[in-house]
Amino acid sequence: MTECAPGKTGLTALIVEDDQAVCDVLQMFVENLGYAVVVCNTGASAQEAFAAKIPHLILMDWLLPDMDGVELSKTFRASERGKYLTILMISSKDSPEDIATAIAAGVDYFISKPFERKVLDIWLFAASRHVQDCLLREEADLALVKIQEELVDNNLQLEEALGRANIMAVEAEQAYIEINQIFKTVAGGILLVDKDCNILRCNDSFLKMARVTREESRDRKCYEIFHTCLCGSDDCPLQRIKKGKKRIESEIEKIAQDGQISYYSIISTPYHGLSEEVGIVEHITDITERVKAEKALAESERRYKELSLVDELTRLFNKRYFNTHLQLEVERANRHGHPLSLLLLDIDNFKHHNDTYGHADGDRVLARLGQVIAESLRTNDVPCRYGGEEFTIILPVTSGEQATVVAERIRARFAGEIFQPTPQETVRKTISIGVTQYLAGESGQSLLERADQNMYEAKQSGKNRYVLK
Ligand code: GH3
Ligand code: MG
Ligand code: MG
Repeated sequence: MTECAPGKTGLTALIVEDDQAVCDVLQMFVENLGYAVVVCNTGASAQEAFAAKIPHLILMDWLLPDMDGVELSKTFRASERGKYLTILMISSKDSPEDIATAIAAGVDYFISKPFERKVLDIWLFAASRHVQDCLLREEADLALVKIQEELVDNNLQLEEALGRANIMAVEAEQAYIEINQIFKTVAGGILLVDKDCNILRCNDSFLKMARVTREESRDRKCYEIFHTCLCGSDDCPLQRIKKGKKRIESEIEKIAQDGQISYYSIISTPYHGLSEEVGIVEHITDITERVKAEKALAESERRYKELSLVDELTRLFNKRYFNTHLQLEVERANRHGHPLSLLLLDIDNFKHHNDTYGHADGDRVLARLGQVIAESLRTNDVPCRYGGEEFTIILPVTSGEQATVVAERIRARFAGEIFQPTPQETVRKTISIGVTQYLAGESGQSLLERADQNMYEAKQSGKNRYVLK
C-alpha cells in the first residue's frame, strides 16, 4: 500500500491494482485531479486502507491476486458510507455480461483494459463529477438526518409538554370536582363575590337561605339576593376586606318579606381570583335555632323571676309574696295605728265544676276570677292566689266595714260572669268570702285564721256571700 501526500481538493482516492504500470498511470491521472491517493496491490490491503480512511473515489481491478474485485466492491458498497462512494472498475473482463455483473455489484463506471489515456481521462472526469454529486448528496442526507433528529427531539418535547398539559387538565378537573363536592356538602352557604358585589359563585345552601333559584341569582349583586343590615353600611364585610381586613365574623338578623326572622353567622375572608382585585368569600351559617333557643332561655329566666312573685295563671301575687307582704302590713298597722283588713275568697262548689267540665275549664274560671279581683281593687290593695281556688286580698288602711264593700263588689261582679264550658251550656260561679279586720297586736297568722273561719261560716250559711267578724 502506498500513501501519497494530501491532494488539493481534500478528497481521497483508493487505487486497487496489481499491475504496477497501470497503477502508475491511474495514480498520475487521479493526482492531477487533486486527490490524495492510496495505492494497494491486493484486496486485503485495500480493505485495510478502506477501513483506515474511507476514500471518495475507488479505482479497482477485477482480477486481484487474492480476491475477486467485484466481490470486494460489494463489501465497499455495503459499508457505512458505501452509498456515497464512486467506484470505477478497470478490467480486461469486458463482455457486456461482465460489465452488467460489475454494475449490478455496485460499480459506477467501467473501463476496458487496455484503455486509451483519453478514454481514462473522460471517465475520470465523469467519476469526479459523480464524486462531487455524492458529496452534495451526503451533505444533504446529513442535513436531513439532523433535521429528522431535531424533529424527533421536538416531537419528544411536544409529547412531554402535551403530557404535562394533560396532567394539569386532569388535576384542574379533579380540583373542580372536589370544589363542587365541597360546595355541595359543606354545612352552610358559600358565596363568592367580586370587588363590585357581583355574585361569582354560590352553593345550593346559600340559594336556599336567600330563597332564590340559581337562575334568579345569575348576574345579580349580593345585596340584591341576600340583603342584610350590613349592606351599604360601613360594616359591609366586602368594603372592610377591601380596606385590608383578613377575616370578619358577623352575626346578623334578617327579616324575610313574610316577616319571618332568621339569624345568620357570617365569616368573610378575602377572595383572590385570577385578577389582582380582591373580592370576598362568605361562609354563612343559619343560627336561627340557636339564637331562638338563647332568646327563649332568657325569656324563661325572666319569667321565672316573675313567677317567684306572681302566680302564672291568675297574674295575682303568689302565696310567698302574700306571707311577706302581710307581715309588712301588720307591722305598719301596729306602727301607725291604721286599720288593716283581710279578705279570704273561695270558689263555691269548684270541685264539681272541675269534675264536670275538666281541669282546664276550671283554670279558665280561676283566671277570670283573678281578672275580676284585679279590676275591683285600688292600687295599694294586694291580691294574691293563696293556693288552689283560694284567694287573699290585703287591704291596707281599710276597716272591716269598708272591706265588706270590696268583698261585695267582687262577689257580685264574679257572680255576674257567664262561663261557657261547652257550646251548649252556660254556667255561673260564685264565691264565699271571709272578711276580717286586724286587731292590734295580733299576728298575721291569727288574722288569716279568722278570715278562714269567716269564709267557712259563709260556706255554712249558704255560700255566695261574705261574713265579717
Ligand atoms: P266548696 O264550695 O265547699 O268550696 O266546694 P269545693 O268543691 O269548691 O271545695 P273543695 O275545697 O273540696 O274543692 C276545691 C277544688 O278546687 C278541688 C280542686 O280540684 C280544685 N282546684 C284547686 N286548685 C285548682 C287549680 O289550680 N285549677 C283547677 N282547675 N282546680 C283547682
Ligand atoms: Mg277550697
Ligand atoms: Mg271551694
